[in-house]
Amino acid sequence: MAERIGVYGGTFDPPHLGHLAIAERLVEAFALDRLLMVPAAIPPHKRGQTISSPFHRLAMLALATAESPRLYVSPIEVEPGATPYTVDTLRRLQQDQPEARLFFVMGADSFRDIHYWYQYEELLSRYSTIVAMRPGFPGEEATSWRELAGNLSARLQELVVDLRGGRRPTTEQMESQQIYLTDYVSVDVSATNIRLAVAEGRSLGDLVPLSVASYIEKYQLYSHA
Ligand code: ATP
Repeated sequence: MAERIGVYGGTFDPPHLGHLAIAERLVEAFALDRLLMVPAAIPPHKRGQTISSPFHRLAMLALATAESPRLYVSPIEVEPGATPYTVDTLRRLQQDQPEARLFFVMGADSFRDIHYWYQYEELLSRYSTIVAMRPGFPGEEATSWRELAGNLSARLQELVVDLRGGRRPTTEQMESQQIYLTDYVSVDVSATNIRLAVAEGRSLGDLVPLSVASYIEKYQLYSHA
């Protein structure tokens, strides 16, 4: 059977328990063989901010996923010659594994702005997308999903499968190429809060795995944020 691979892109500065809860849960709900966490080189919408080096972000992701058999880290977007565009990343992954089914994973806040992304129509029409609801962002309440996908063409909106309310995809939905809206986990954590907590000397408590908290302290990340 074709391998089912999740591709979860982000800045991951740092990776946190929100990312991990989503990754673990989607692996299970969509029967993914593995999920790749893909740190972005320089996210176009975050230029101008100081972002930790790809080395640190990869290292933290490796620590965060070490105990999870199906979660992997991929350096594909930070390798020399890589482009910063998600659609190119998916094309390259698909070229490497033509038989595999790819599922791109993103949060509702990113999805709301997807119509600004490079070749987003190609991205959404060629690869399945799983959107994770995020506390405080549109789509969290049981309102119409059109609030979230209102900027997409009618043709792309037809791909939307609303699984909010904890609904599982049917076998048919699992096998076809769709945009899945999910709310399986609700974790109110952001990397911004974590960087702020470090700068203010607060404990990272339940925000990141212990290994990541130790790494942040050891390399003194975010202490001058
Ligand atoms: P920052 O606070 O620096 O913007 P972030 O916490 O949003 O960071 P990213 O690395 O930018 O983390 O997130 C990668 C992806 O994960 C994005 O698509 C984002 O929407 C999603 N995501 C991050 N945290 C959550 C969360 N708590 N719930 C749902 N989705 C999330």
